[in-house]
Amino acid sequence: MTKESQSSEGTLEKIVSLAKRRGFVFQGSEIYGGLAGMWDYGPLGVSLKRNIVDAWWKKFVSGREDMYAVDTAVIMNPRVWEASGHVKGFADSLESGQKFNVMFKTSVGAGDGAVGSFLRPETAQGTFVNFKNVIDSFHPKLPFGIAQVGKAFRNEIAPRDFLFRSREFEQMEVEYFIREKDWQRQFDYWREEMLSWVESIGVSRKSIHELEVPPAQRAHYSKRTLDFEYDFPFGRKELYGLAYRGDFDLKSHQSASGTALEYLDEDPPAGPDGTVGAGGKDRFIPHVIEPTFGVDRTVLALLCEAYNEDELGGEKRVFLKFPKHLAPVRVAVFPLLKNKPNLVAKAREVFRMVRKEIPNAMFDDNGNIGKRYRRQDEIGTPHCITVDFETLENDTVTVRDRDSGRQERFAVHKLAEVLS
Ligand code: ATP
Repeated sequence: MTKESQSSEGTLEKIVSLAKRRGFVFQGSEIYGGLAGMWDYGPLGVSLKRNIVDAWWKKFVSGREDMYAVDTAVIMNPRVWEASGHVKGFADSLESGQKFNVMFKTSVGAGDGAVGSFLRPETAQGTFVNFKNVIDSFHPKLPFGIAQVGKAFRNEIAPRDFLFRSREFEQMEVEYFIREKDWQRQFDYWREEMLSWVESIGVSRKSIHELEVPPAQRAHYSKRTLDFEYDFPFGRKELYGLAYRGDFDLKSHQSASGTALEYLDEDPPAGPDGTVGAGGKDRFIPHVIEPTFGVDRTVLALLCEAYNEDELGGEKRVFLKFPKHLAPVRVAVFPLLKNKPNLVAKAREVFRMVRKEIPNAMFDDNGNIGKRYRRQDEIGTPHCITVDFETLENDTVTVRDRDSGRQERFAVHKLAEVLS
């Protein structure tokens, strides 16, 4: 069956059920009847999510010289949320027309000394309030970014569509600090970076639709916001966002906290009129471009993108066509028969060797070989290695390719090379 011919609503149900059955994602607090908008990741979901975050980290943080990482507290001084505008304006409309602030309230400390605060609804503010710490410790040159991956919490009025709109989720965010005059160029640059990330996780550019958010729907401080939408089974919806936040955040925190959040350029480039540069110093609040990526929406988009049904050897099957570097299990190793000790021992030896080279390898001897292949297809394992009687004679194994179901024999000592 082609992807187009699968009913889209049906596809989401199938994905939710596969995710539960195979240990990707469970309903939060399930044995107590759940809690709306909360999801728990199981072993395969954790592995998939970790692979996504690792790939993102490599591309946007450790792979760059201009990026500084922070990991900031979920609960901050409540004045942060006043200065950022969230206390006043982070609200959705209820059906009755009353506004409802979607920040989760909490309190810190005991008894009369308790202070009311909020669970952060975005990671960005933790980054902004550490701007001074980063420049004081590292003296980065503009442009530079501060990146953070972490949880965010929103008491969404209507959580829905599986991982798409939940009340606790994870963000991968960069606040990229620039000179104001460069904002259009930097915006275009980050737009390209985001599209190249999308491609690197196996989602084609064609599946991404860019939406210029009209001024009336943008945050008041944003001069331009671009939503990257994906065709989820329940409709075309925001996967990621790119916003030009101007100098709003740093300016607000500077005036509310009384701490200077300016950048001092000791050696600024000369302006066309020669006003700065040539030994002068320039002190100003940088502007910000913010590319933001939801981890859970990425997991969901990848599940949707990867979900496939076809027929193999006259049998229907479901398989997840994850890109190899993101697959929660990269390779599975089986003995052909589990009741032949010499095959099992050899399979264990091959498994030990393979897992040294390839992360997330799995040993499986449950059920018959056909069932094991189906199970691995269903969780998106790109390759399955089978140790059979011929292995004992000539040290070769079969390697089965998930997408085509084809098997080829390779020498055991070639496996690392073949699989990577
Ligand atoms: P939406 O319009 O869908 O509510 P948003 O514009 O409020 O999203 P942002 O504030 O830009 O979202 O958040 C940044 C990213 O965090 C989003 O692009 C998305 O990937 C993710 N995200 C936001 N809200 C949720 C949620 N309730 N559940 C899961 N992920 C979310």
